[in-house]
This record gives sequence, C-alpha cells and structure tokens, in this order.
Amino acid sequence: MGRGQRIEIRTPDEIEAMRDAARHVAEILIELRERVAPGVTTRELDEYAEKAIAQRGVRSSFKGYDPLGLPAYPAVLCVSVNDEIVHGIPGSRELVEGDIVSLDFGVECDGFHGDSAVTVSVGRIGEETQRLLDTSSQALDEAMEVMVPGRRLSDIGHAVQRCVEAAGYSVVREFAGHGIGRKLHEPPWIPNFGAAGRGPRLVPGMVFAIEPMVTIGRSDVKMRDDEWTAVTADGSLAAHYEHTVLITEDGPEALTRVAGSH
Ligand code: MG
Ligand code: MG
Repeated sequence: MGRGQRIEIRTPDEIEAMRDAARHVAEILIELRERVAPGVTTRELDEYAEKAIAQRGVRSSFKGYDPLGLPAYPAVLCVSVNDEIVHGIPGSRELVEGDIVSLDFGVECDGFHGDSAVTVSVGRIGEETQRLLDTSSQALDEAMEVMVPGRRLSDIGHAVQRCVEAAGYSVVREFAGHGIGRKLHEPPWIPNFGAAGRGPRLVPGMVFAIEPMVTIGRSDVKMRDDEWTAVTADGSLAAHYEHTVLITEDGPEALTRVAGSH
C-alpha cells in the first residue's frame, strides 16, 4: 500500500469484472447481516460466509492474506465486536443483545477483488450507539459525494474527518482506504483525515475502497495478542463502513451496493 505510486485506471472489461466481484460481496454481506442475532458466534458467521463463497465459485480475498510480518489471516470474514475496530478474527464469542458488530468481507472473482464492511446492531442498541453507526455511515456517504472527476484524492479523507468530528467522534488513523483491483490493496493509501485539495485528481475508471473507522472516544488503537485485532485503546465503541467505489463521468458508483445494502 505504498504512497505516491501509480493509480490504475480500469478498462470497461475490468470494470465489469469488478462489478461482479463487488456484487457477490454485497449479496453475501446482506445474508450475513440477517444472521446477526444474540447467541450467534462470530465463527458461525464466518462459516456461513465460507459456504456462500464456495457456492458462488468465487474466492476469499482475506483467508491466507499475509502482509509482511503478520501471520496469515485465518478466516474469510473479519468480525469486530464493540471496541474492536477492524480485523477481528472469528471465534467462539457469542453475540449479545446490545452489541455492535462490524462485518468486513472481500472476494476475488475472475482476477478482481471487491471489499465492503458494515456495522450491524445485535438486537436493540442504545441511542448513543445508534448515533455512532449513523454518523459512520453518513461519513462514508459524504466521502463518496466528493468522488467526482476533477476533485483531489485528499478531498475524500477530509470529508470523512469533517463529518465524524462534527458529531464529536474520532477517526482512526492507523488504517485507511485503498485502491483495489487485481489486488485487494493497491495504491493509493486513502487516510480518513487530512486537508482537502491535495494529491492526484480523480479520474473516471479509478476504483477505491473507502472505509471510515470511527470511535466514540479517542482514536488511539491497541493491537490484541493475535496480531490482527485492532481495538480502541480507551475501550470505547467503534464502527466501520466500507464500499468499493468506481469513479465515473457522472460521479461515484458504489459497486458493493445492491438493493438492501448499507
Ligand atoms: Mg474491507
Ligand atoms: Mg478495505
């Protein structure tokens, strides 16, 4: 995920392939959301996702993913509960009424990846928790609004930060959005904060995974001993929303959004 490297412009054929990958991600995420309930374990969600991947004849973007210095990611789904921000490894934890759970999911189809995340409530949640979810989802929408040709790359993160901080919340700085295509993570690195008006101009055919990670408290991150799970240092709740977004002449198209999606 280098900075300042070339940003790919996708051909119409490549865009069609990316649409397919993204649609599988969107449809499976909807099925997963419907399975979130008190008493369900995070591993059960992963097992469902793994079956859905096999039935559709696509591949996981996450399982076996091994960035330098980290153990290979062991699951097809990231399931991050409450103060877990991202990259929660599925296991025996049972969801409890009032929890929030972030589901982050990616597949590869015909050589291209799609990547999307959503935070789901488990049964009834508190008012402030709902406001965190609404704000984080809104931050993703506001980020997409600036993804029009001619705008600058840093306008995206600026829009996220402005929305989140106006609500009194914090953006996580250790993780970021990214280019996506033949690899899950491609240049550029797209932080969720910063000044507007910097970086390359946006051009039709660019595809980015935009993913605000938002905390109710401070933005500091701690890593669990499993080396993957990132949690808030202050134990506050965190939310994560993500879409794979194509820039078109007419503006943004969320490829991972189908009817019923976030
Ligand atoms: Mg993701
Ligand atoms: Mg991503």
